[in-house]
Formats: sequence, C-alpha cells, structure tokens
Amino acid sequence: MKAAGLARKLDKLGLRSRFDLVLHLPHRYEDETALTAPDAAPPGKPVLVQAKVERAEIAYRPRRQLVVHAQGLVLRFFNFYQSQLTQFRRAAAEGLLVRAFGEVRPGWFGAEMAHPRYRLVHEGEPLPDALTPIYPTTAGLAQAALRGRVLEALDEAGLEDTLPEELRRRHGLAGFAESARLLHRPPPGADLASLVERTHPAWRRMKFDELLAQQLSMRFAYRKRRERRAPMLAGDGRLVREFLARLPFRLTRAQQRAMGEVLRDLREPHPMQRLLQGDVGSGKTIVAAIACLAAADAGWQAAVMAPTEILSEQHWRKLAGWFEPLGVRIAWLHGALAAKEKRAALAALRSGEAPLAVGTHALVQEGVEFARLGLAVVDEQHRFGVEQRLMLRKKAEEAVPHQLMMSATPIPRTLSMSYYADLDVSLIDELPPGRRAVATRLVSAARRAEVLARIREACAEGQQAYWVCPVIEESKEGELQTALDTHAALVKELKGLRVGLLHGRMPSAEKAAAMQAFAAGGIQLLVSTTVIEVGVDVPNASLMVIEHAERFGLAQLHQLRGRIGRGARESVCILLYAAPLSAAARGRLKIIYENADGFEIARRDLLLRGPGEYLGERQSGAPLLRFADLERDEPLIAAAREAAAELIARDPAAGRRHVERWLGARQDYVRV
Ligand code: ADP
Ligand code: MG
Repeated sequence: MKAAGLARKLDKLGLRSRFDLVLHLPHRYEDETALTAPDAAPPGKPVLVQAKVERAEIAYRPRRQLVVHAQGLVLRFFNFYQSQLTQFRRAAAEGLLVRAFGEVRPGWFGAEMAHPRYRLVHEGEPLPDALTPIYPTTAGLAQAALRGRVLEALDEAGLEDTLPEELRRRHGLAGFAESARLLHRPPPGADLASLVERTHPAWRRMKFDELLAQQLSMRFAYRKRRERRAPMLAGDGRLVREFLARLPFRLTRAQQRAMGEVLRDLREPHPMQRLLQGDVGSGKTIVAAIACLAAADAGWQAAVMAPTEILSEQHWRKLAGWFEPLGVRIAWLHGALAAKEKRAALAALRSGEAPLAVGTHALVQEGVEFARLGLAVVDEQHRFGVEQRLMLRKKAEEAVPHQLMMSATPIPRTLSMSYYADLDVSLIDELPPGRRAVATRLVSAARRAEVLARIREACAEGQQAYWVCPVIEESKEGELQTALDTHAALVKELKGLRVGLLHGRMPSAEKAAAMQAFAAGGIQLLVSTTVIEVGVDVPNASLMVIEHAERFGLAQLHQLRGRIGRGARESVCILLYAAPLSAAARGRLKIIYENADGFEIARRDLLLRGPGEYLGERQSGAPLLRFADLERDEPLIAAAREAAAELIARDPAAGRRHVERWLGARQDYVRV
C-alpha cells in the first residue's frame, strides 16, 4: 500500500500519532504460538497446523476452486489468484511447508481447511513468540499492515510511566509500558479470556489511565475556572430567613444539607460550579430559590434559566409566589411580553432594581444587561449548549457569576462521578414527606374505553388528569396534529368534562392561560404534548394517561409520571401501549413499571443507551471513554478520582503529562 493511502486509512481509524497506535488495542487474539496436528484439531476452534505441500490443482466440482494437497491436510480456496496456484506448485517442488490458521474439518481426503490464512515456510522455521493480535480495522487495511505500524509505534513511542511508583503500588496497577506491550503481544499461555473480557491487569491499567486522564482534565478545567474571581455573596441573610419562616413546610434534611453547601460556596471569592441533583419532586427549586435570595441579600442579581418557555413560566410562577411577599422583584422575560413590558423588564435588570431574572436562553442573548449578576441558576443544564453558558458568563462585568446547575432527571452515579467530575455535586436524596407512590399500570390501547371511564370517575371526584399525546419521532408537525386530533376526540368522548389543550406551538399567552386554568381547577383534563414533561406542578392532578407510552424514553416517562403523586390522593399513571410491543419497548416499559426511584431508572437508561445519548450538549465537550465501562468499572472510576486529586496536589506536572499523553489536542475543549 502506498504511504499516503496507508496514512489515509489510519486516519480513518483516528490513528494519527504514535501514541494513538499504541492505544489502538486488539479486540481479540489468535494463537499461532503452537502447532496442532491436523487430525487432532478440536472441532470449531481455529488452530495453527503445518504440513508439507505435495501438489496443487484447480478443481471444478462442485465449483471452481484451488485445492492444495499437503501431508494429511487439504486446503481449499474458492476465491484465489492464478499466482497462488503457481506459488503452491513451486512450494511443492521446493519441499516447503504450509502453515495455516483456521478451523479444521473432516473431509473426503481427511483433514480439510477452507480458505485459511496461511504462510509458506521452510522446515524448522520458528513459531511466533506472542499471540497474534486482531485489531479493529477499516476496509482495505490489512491486519498485517496495521500490526506492523502498531509494533513500530510500540518501539518508537515513549512509553515511560506517567504514574508515580507509589501511586501505582497503592492501586495495584501494572506498569504502563509492560501493559501496552502485553496487550499488543501477549506471551503464549496468556489468559485469553481475561484479555478478551478486558479484565486482565494490563487492561485494568489502560482503563485506569483513561479514567485518570478524564478526571485530571476535568479537575484542571475546574481549577482554571475556579481561579477566576466571583463576587462574595455574603449578605445579612435577612431574605433567606424570612423566606424560610414563611414556608408552609420544613425543608427536608437533604434540602438543608444542599442549602448549606450552596450558601457556603456563594460566600467564596471564586465561582461556584455546583450541580444540584435529585429525583423528580425532591424539591430542588426551593434550594435554587434560596440561592437567589442569598444573592439578593448580598446586593447582587440572580438569573434563572430554563430550556423552555413552559418551564421558565413554571419557575416564574413559583418564584413570584414566594418572592413577592418578600418584596423581591422578578423580571420575567418571555416571548409574549409586549414591547413596553419588555423594555421595562430590561431596564429593571440594567438598573439592578430587579434582583431576579427568569427566562429561557433569551436571558443570555444580546440586549439583556445586568447591573450586577452574581448567580446563574441553569435548570436542565444538559440541554444548554456550551455557547449559551459562555455567553452567560460574559454578562457579568465585574466578575464571573456563581453557577448552580440543576438536572430534572437524576444523573446516574457513575456518570456524575466521571463526566461531571468538573462540578461539585449536592445530592437531594430524600423526598418531602407525604409523597405517595404512584401506581403504574400498563394497559393495551384496545382498552381505551375503560381508561376513559376511569378519567370520568376521577374527575367526578374532583380530581384532575393529564392526557399525554405520543411523541412523533419524525416531525413536530405530526406531534402537533396528533395533539389537536386527540384533543378534539377527547372533547367528544368525554362530553361534560372540561378538557383543555397545551402544546409547544401555542402562543405564550395561551399556554399560560391553559396552565393557569388547569392549576386553578378550571380545566379537568389537560391534553398535552410532552411540554408538561418538566416542572409542571399541579398537586390536585392524580391521574395521568400516556398514549403510545412505548415510544417514550425512560427518562421522559419518569419525568412525566413525576407530575402526579404530589397531592394527598393515591395517584395512577396509565401507560397505554399499542400491541404488539417490540422487545426493546417491552423492556423499557417493564423498567418503568417496576421502578419508582429515578436514580435506578437513570442507571438502567444509561445501560440501554450509553453515555453519549445521556450527556446531551455536554458530550460535545468531553471525549467519550473508549476502554472503561461505566457500569463494570465503577470501582476503577472511584480509584481514578482519588488518584487524580492526589496527583494534582502532589505532582501537577505529572498530571499534565498524563493528560497530554491521553488526550493530546482533545483536551482543549471549552468548559464554562
Ligand atoms: P423538583 O426537584 O422536581 O424540581 P420541586 O422543587 O418542583 O421539585 O418540588 C416539588 C414540590 O414539592 C413542590 O410543590 C414544592 O413546593 C414541594 N416541596 C418542596 N420541598 C418540600 C418540603 N420540604 N416539604 C414539602 N413539600 C415540599
Ligand atoms: Mg424542577
């Protein structure tokens, strides 16, 4: 192969530097270190055999083929070049042996192999002293060529260990060079099963290094952001105290702990970078509200950003209810504001008269200026792009604002330990008292009439219900049409009930009106698209029907179901499905049916979908793990975290070398 062609093929595999080649690890091996006698080969297992070539010919039955007769062995090739015939004939004349790797089968003339990989050798030629690695490759790049490049790279790349001896010893890690060499050239007798399953100590070292590089790069990014100045939000705490005094309930212990962590961070002179984690309904909003009040107490402004108008409106509604009695003005920026109102809101933020802004990304767009932005609360952080967060930071003139990030669905533990290692985490692991478990029912769409009767019954008792229309993968238009049709149908089918409609395309004012009517009990059944997925909070709603539940993702179903079970009544979530279910859909529904804990559902979801899907916008910044597996290697993640902290404290230069080796140019992603 021409050098340029080879380079292009290597490039296609992402192999650019020598070190890339070193890290291009085999996915399996073939054992050519020992010979098996052809008549002793176990069935179904590829082996290396060797026999003296006797003659070669082309046969035509049952189809055209090259047949090579060797001593006690016949080789057949159905695709072959004429030159191979010549080659084997010459080998026979010269008394060479054929050394072939493949499965041996009993045939007409004794042991046979069909198109094995082979080499012609002289008597006495030594066998390879290592297992043969088989690499992931691409069309037109032969194993032998790739193997050659990798072996070269192993010799030329510096494989010195980036980990201090002591650290290696404590974590029981094999040496790096030794591990790399072993994985590319395992000695005869190496434990193949543990190599293929990636549990071999050499694999363990590679995974550890990869995880360590991830931890280190995130900790470095964290430290870099932390070096910036942020306003110290240390006021007299009057607003926070008044707010807590007025709350009709007590904070849970978990909320109190989270509040303590947030307030402590806010008093520091560098920006908080904290993720507030908790299951649906665990009461994250209150903790965020307290953070905003702490900012106001200190004479600074806060901004609460949500990914959708509906959610931002929910925040506004809730925060306004809490803050107005305290005399804290909120500027709510949304699509339906008249020009004059909008000017007033912008002016209030510019002058600092409004200590709090609530809105969507619009908040970080041009034209919104803050007098003294001290805190940004980012809800559903994974839905925001890096760009938007970067812009938010630019909004702050004097110093970088503190950041509190929230996530509507729990982030699985392994994921937050790895991909979110650049954030401090506050965990609300307790639900407010009095929450009732939601009963989940799986009901075939064929039983729709029973479901309608159920809705009538619930509404007759003064309860309210949601009807969630299916997601339509291909088009938002289709989704909208479905919602309109469903609404029209349900209005007819449920005569006498007040049926409302909510979807994302409604003008903001109408959306607001529908939500308000539902919250006030004016609407009994709310037909909606998934816009209600996040944040909508109507405790009197105790019944939810999700149509075509089989089309929803796990996180989405859990979110939706979390909208009920918030009041005093027993709540029921009916998952309507269209039979027959695919195996995958059945699996998903089963998980939702069997689990109420969002963290467990998130963990299962991660297993099903992998981290890429899960990370959303965040993924664009972080290189995905190639070797380590979040589920299986959880103990290694913990070890790498510990090692990263230690390395940064003791020998940051070694840490940088390690990151450089593993991430090279890829480490320069922006993290804000
Ligand atoms: P989420 O974590 O899903 O954002 P919310 O903050 O929306 O949860 O809270 C869900 C509901 O629980 C809200 O109605 C809120 O007022 C209520 N709530 C929050 N904390 C408590 C508490 N400690 N005791 C009782 N109710 C609470
Ligand atoms: Mg919420």
